[in-house]
Amino acid sequence: METETNVYDEVEIEDMNYEEDAQRYTYNCPCGDLFVLTVAEMRRGEQIAKCPSCSLRIRVIYDVEAWCPSRAVPVCAPAATRV
Ligand SMILES: [Zn+2]
Repeated sequence: METETNVYDEVEIEDMNYEEDAQRYTYNCPCGDLFVLTVAEMRRGEQIAKCPSCSLRIRVIYDVEAWCPSRAVPVCAPAATRV
């Protein structure tokens, strides 16, 4: 089975830590580093937060349309659902 949406976990945006200075959301990775999703990525409709120290990824659950209102689907859709 091959899937591009293979993620370690799914996390609500409310459960992530917002770093105002860095304009990003972070979440603890089991390797000891942090998953990172930047505000700029969210405005593009990105939902996958990556850890820079390992290969794990998480899907961040948030209202994509609220962050990316000017670009309705399919531009804002996750890469895995792109045609
Ligand atoms: Zn990690």
